[in-house]
Amino acid sequence: MNPFFALSRTVLLRMSRADALGRLVQRTAWGRRSVRRFVAGDTIPAAVEVALDLKRRGFTVTLDRLGEASSGAAADAYAADASELLIAQAAAGLEPNVSVKLTAIGLGEGSAAAATRLDRILATAQSVNGFVRVDAEYPNSLDQLHDIVCAARAAGRPVGTVVQANMKRSSADVERLIVAGIPIRLVKGAYDPGAEGVGDFEAVNASYLSLADQLIASPVPLAFGTHDDQIISRLGEGAQARGEIQLLYGVRSDLAERLVANGWRVRIYTPYGPDWWPYSLRRMAERPANLRFVLRSLFGR
Ligand SMILES: Cc1cc2nc3c(=O)[nH]c(=O)nc-3n(C[C@H](O)[C@H](O)[C@H](O)COP(=O)(O)OP(=O)(O)OC[C@H]3O[C@@H](n4cnc5c(N)ncnc54)[C@H](O)[C@@H]3O)c2cc1C
Repeated sequence: MNPFFALSRTVLLRMSRADALGRLVQRTAWGRRSVRRFVAGDTIPAAVEVALDLKRRGFTVTLDRLGEASSGAAADAYAADASELLIAQAAAGLEPNVSVKLTAIGLGEGSAAAATRLDRILATAQSVNGFVRVDAEYPNSLDQLHDIVCAARAAGRPVGTVVQANMKRSSADVERLIVAGIPIRLVKGAYDPGAEGVGDFEAVNASYLSLADQLIASPVPLAFGTHDDQIISRLGEGAQARGEIQLLYGVRSDLAERLVANGWRVRIYTPYGPDWWPYSLRRMAERPANLRFVLRSLFGR
């Protein structure tokens, strides 16, 4: 990896965890303007409006209320918002589908607190025939994530999760999740894997394709969360028949349109909400060229 890229990636990932700085920037109008390419506004109506537009263009959508590391009343509010979002999607004629993060619903208070709040969201999802995907986060939270989603699935809840190809443990995780019948989104991984890392860029790609084969051979519903054309072209017809591609809002719209034209089902992961700092910094860490878009929005071009 280019040393400048490696350094900027490390700095941006560190900055994504700088809460005080994030809170400060999020409050500014120029900050909000800078991320509008990746974030569908601050409110549920704004997010639903964007989702309706995506639907008109042939995409399905999962909406994600941005927010991380919440507890207490903030985590309760996040969970209530996710439920409201599912109801708003159903009311607007959209498929009710949200993605949530356990840290945003109080994982820091322990698994039981997060599982209780998740169950409230899942009960709402079930009442509107919707679906909730629980995103994968830091390596040290994955055991809790899997315990929680497996228990929820065993209770009949409409829940899925995410597996990160950059982790050595992922093949074993996939086995466990397949046995539990959990729908899986496969991604490369946006968090520093630490000692769990499979290796460099090529190693992550190889791991992605190997996990994809493991998943395609299973009966669970599949989603491939990637913007990597090389990977997508190697997934093959089995993947297309069994799964969908998921892309992030504002990233590779050209690819999204091409995939739909080629018969893929494509879902756009669309984040919204005022707490956009960590998410946006991770997108820039993936591709420092995104800083260019941010600067362009800041300076109005
Ligand atoms: C729908 C979805 C859900 C996700 N959920 C999770 C999750 O729960 N947990 C998690 O750890 N990670 C998640 N991720 C992030 C993922 O792990 C990767 O960090 C991210 O998708 C970049 O990897 P890539 O597969 O696109 O491949 P890369 O090799 O990073 O990129 C392939 C090509 O795509 C383009 N590209 C990639 N990213 C960007 C970008 N940000 N801006 C512009 N162009 C870009 C570039 O042209 C690049 O050459 C999710 C990603 C998607 C698409």
